[in-house]
Amino acid sequence: MKDLIDIPRIFTISEREHRIHNPFTPEKYATLGHVLRMKSGARILDLGSGSGEMLCTWARDHGVTGTGIDMSPLFTSQAITRAEELGVANHVQFIHDDAAGFVSEEKCDIAACVGATWIAGGVHGTIALLQQSLKPEGMILIGEPFWRKVPRTEADAQACGVTSVADFLTLSDLVASFGELGYDVVEMVLADQEGWDRYEAAKWMTMRRWLDENPDDDFACDVRNELTLSPTRHVTWTREYFGWGVFALMSR
Ligand code: SAH
Repeated sequence: MKDLIDIPRIFTISEREHRIHNPFTPEKYATLGHVLRMKSGARILDLGSGSGEMLCTWARDHGVTGTGIDMSPLFTSQAITRAEELGVANHVQFIHDDAAGFVSEEKCDIAACVGATWIAGGVHGTIALLQQSLKPEGMILIGEPFWRKVPRTEADAQACGVTSVADFLTLSDLVASFGELGYDVVEMVLADQEGWDRYEAAKWMTMRRWLDENPDDDFACDVRNELTLSPTRHVTWTREYFGWGVFALMSR
């Protein structure tokens, strides 16, 4: 039954070659791993762990342990393969499941949701969920978009691919909102426009190759449409209007 739980197919097709499913590059994850000053053996929970690059590389580079939960069977199997490749399969585990409402029995040093805060209905709900899996002195990591440039109209927001300007905050409002929730922001690493290019532009060749290999698939029209629109949409809207960052929070 569990295999039936999956994410929308467009992501599985367009991001199947991605190791990182957000605008962070390997260098940004390395910087974040470094600045968090994690101790060897630190325990991390990662909700929406994707293909597992954060946990696997941090297990290799910092000796951390952890569990990742992700709703995509494909990404979860890629994460398990990556852990084996990096020789950390004894330190990290990846579970295919819906992470909504997930609370770990063993409390963690770091509880993360990096680019999947809809799991608990937005940033506030996700912080409340992660807090339940955390040791009292633990740290929460939230990866979230923000408006680098605020769209002037609702139509512009929709061109960015979201339903409303209200879906995201500016960087200053996002950081202030963490304080209002009773958290200190103790670190942050921000993505840049080249990081957005790596996330978005890397989908285009993957989609093109998939289309060449699967011309008669029922889903080919949707993928063709996405590939036709995506490059212009990216350079006109996403790249200019969206920022993205990971914020490390500690309860006051
Ligand atoms: N943190 C990862 C992936 C971010 S992309 C990285 O840095 O690469 C968002 C991820 O959330 C995808 O892997 C998607 O499969 C997963 N996801 C979406 N809804 C989910 C849910 N309800 N429970 C668990 N994972 C979910």
